[in-house]
Amino acid sequence: PNHEQAAEAVRFIREADRFLVVSHVNPDGDAIGSTLGVAWMLKQLGKEFHLVNASPVPAKFRFLPGAEWIRPPEALRSAAPFSHVIAVDAADAERMGEARSLIAEDAQLLNIDHHATNDRFGTSNWVVPDAAATAQVLANLVEALKLRWETPLAACIYTGLLTDTGGFRYSNTTPAVLELASHLLKQGVHPGEIADRVMETMTLGQLALTKRALDTLTFSDSGQVGWMWLKRRDFEEAEASEDEMDGIVNYARNVEGVDVGILFRETDDGAIKVSLRSREKVDVGELAKSFGGGGHARAAGCTLEESPEKVEQMVLSRVSDALKRGSS
Ligand code: 5GP
Ligand code: MN
Ligand code: MN
Repeated sequence: PNHEQAAEAVRFIREADRFLVVSHVNPDGDAIGSTLGVAWMLKQLGKEFHLVNASPVPAKFRFLPGAEWIRPPEALRSAAPFSHVIAVDAADAERMGEARSLIAEDAQLLNIDHHATNDRFGTSNWVVPDAAATAQVLANLVEALKLRWETPLAACIYTGLLTDTGGFRYSNTTPAVLELASHLLKQGVHPGEIADRVMETMTLGQLALTKRALDTLTFSDSGQVGWMWLKRRDFEEAEASEDEMDGIVNYARNVEGVDVGILFRETDDGAIKVSLRSREKVDVGELAKSFGGGGHARAAGCTLEESPEKVEQMVLSRVSDALKRGSS
């Protein structure tokens, strides 16, 4: 089945000359690494490509080769509509945010992803829930297209693999992941430099935001759930942007005895973005999906348009139900 989907992806790419490559809002390392990975492939094939993201590229990924190619939707308005689109690391069309407006109504869309909650919104879909990262699926595409593993391409794929496995620590770190990582290092990727930039460097805004979030850390009576809040004021006073909250939710999940860590964040338009992480008992991907979001069993998210009190109460009660079911 993987072969068939790879062959279909190859056909999709061979058939057209001009592509839009898009990933999800608030992009992480897999979203950016995969967008750029596809770009380097299309470049090697001599195709015209345009890269878009509804959110700015987080500062820590701007060192990646080709990062400046990723433009906001407004900048591509005059080149739209696009009739051939490749979406990477996006579980549903909604996740592309404002970038959707660049896509022709009757566009051919190749959806390459690894979220179990992916709703197959493409006209072609290559979804591998067992893959640790979309970047891992793309490594198969490089092979299927018989392309050379240039160093910039390898570095982008490596970044997606590194970040979606939490630095090769999460349970999705399989032998195949480490074999691919080994292969990428042989292409000249510098693992120390990439890890330093994307995992080991904290901005002052991120530090200030972390302090504020930790001040709100609260635990359930059982100690199995820990949650934090970040309100709009926190971002203002910490002089931090949205992408600087990356990783903060882990502080709640990492506490001994906690299975589910939650970060509630008030967005600029007053909605509440919920980030969920779990150790083993609760499938937070399914839980987030029940609120209209999605993700993976151990990391997921959703956005709710209710008051902060209501959102906290709804999410905590569903987490508590899930924990009861898991342990009964
Ligand atoms: P984060 O909490 O870091 O924003 O997201 C964690 C994981 O959940 C990522 O894999 C991300 O793609 C997914 N995710 C977060 N928010 C949403 C959402 O609103 N919808 C869907 N489908 N997935 C989400
Ligand atoms: Mn992602
Ligand atoms: Mn991913």
